[in-house]
Amino acid sequence: MMMLPSPSISSRARYSRSRSNKNQKSPPSIAGTDWATLDFGLIEKDLAAKLSDNDIRDVLLHINAANKVKRLWLTNCTNIRGIGLRPLSGSTLIEKIDLSLVGKHCNPSNIMPEPPISCDIVLPILDSIISNETLCRLKYLNFPKGWRMRAYNTAKSGSSTETQSIFQAFLARYDQMLQNRGPPKNHSGIDLEIGIFGRHNSYGTQYNICHQCTKLFRHDCSVGDDNAEHYFCSACEREYCGNCVTTTGCGICSYGFCVGTCITHSCASPNCDEKVCDECKQYWCDKCYRTWCDECCSRNCLDCEWCTKRYCHECSENDEMNGVLRCDEYDCVNIACSSCLLKRLQEGELDCMKCIRKATPLIKQLKDENKELKDENEALCQRNQNLEESKQSLEMLMYNRMGITSRDIGCRYRTLQEPN
Ligand SMILES: [Zn+2]
Ligand SMILES: [Zn+2]
Ligand SMILES: [Zn+2]
Ligand SMILES: [Zn+2]
Ligand SMILES: [Zn+2]
Ligand SMILES: [Zn+2]
Ligand SMILES: [Zn+2]
Repeated sequence: MMMLPSPSISSRARYSRSRSNKNQKSPPSIAGTDWATLDFGLIEKDLAAKLSDNDIRDVLLHINAANKVKRLWLTNCTNIRGIGLRPLSGSTLIEKIDLSLVGKHCNPSNIMPEPPISCDIVLPILDSIISNETLCRLKYLNFPKGWRMRAYNTAKSGSSTETQSIFQAFLARYDQMLQNRGPPKNHSGIDLEIGIFGRHNSYGTQYNICHQCTKLFRHDCSVGDDNAEHYFCSACEREYCGNCVTTTGCGICSYGFCVGTCITHSCASPNCDEKVCDECKQYWCDKCYRTWCDECCSRNCLDCEWCTKRYCHECSENDEMNGVLRCDEYDCVNIACSSCLLKRLQEGELDCMKCIRKATPLIKQLKDENKELKDENEALCQRNQNLEESKQSLEMLMYNRMGITSRDIGCRYRTLQEPN
């Protein structure tokens, strides 16, 4: 029997074929009525995260998954190691498996800590599926981010094939199987490129197929051909066709993202409709925290060339002391904040009079601050002395009351100080 951790899906009925009246709205189910799609993203996230390998195995056995399930989304099943997937071994029906464990338009980098799903356990199951090349229908695999990034790092370090990880070896076998299958051709299907520039998060993803509708892309079509148009989202790290998802480039890094879900932040310019991705969003004005697209930023902001502090023009104008300004003196190229100018001045490296003038108010400000601190220090010393004096007179008063003379006190102090 299945043991499920929570009552909300513990009823078998939830997993069995819907027999309910057509007019009656059936409760959300993780599978369609024909079991072709099994999507754990349709149950509560907390519950999916609690499911064990035994739970998954029981579900798969119960519905005869090897002969029924074509699409398996293990969304949010972050507690499994993979043994529970064994009932799928040798399936000649399964077409798509998403092992990334995140839902639609969710960034796999956000699963913390890394889920325990294991290569050593899952790959033999996948191998049992792809080894039957004539009957195998598998055409889409989305792997856990951790597997892909470790393989990326191994590949980047230039390790030889002997030290190739078992995951890389599997990728090669799967890739070969896809190639052997024939058209759509001119592509291998798995992204194993090591990008020197840009993000590496596409490593080990499948790029010849739309994650959503499973449409295959032909890389031998001319540009503009519908079959050649596809996009990789750098946040949810999946490939889509133009019909399923609208993507746009980030206005700063220009990587592609799903509009409205994976990229939501807009450029701070009121007349600009560029979007800025989450990673680039942090390149803000250090005062007002607004972010602009690259083009608007070059018009709106200045970065201090020494400390990289970024201030927008508005903030620099309102706060000249801290703002970043471009010196307009002929022959001077300084773009700097006052404290960096002051530092150059102290090091004797500032010779532009205009820049020196800009740093001068800061010297005055520092002097004032210094004086304030000095005054404060003096006042504290005075207060300390007063306290000490009143303590002594209080002590004298107390001893006088008790009939002890100051000479006795002196004696007592001496006896206390002398070693026995
Ligand atoms: Zn599609
Ligand atoms: Zn996306
Ligand atoms: Zn970006
Ligand atoms: Zn600002
Ligand atoms: Zn803009
Ligand atoms: Zn600076
Ligand atoms: Zn200057």
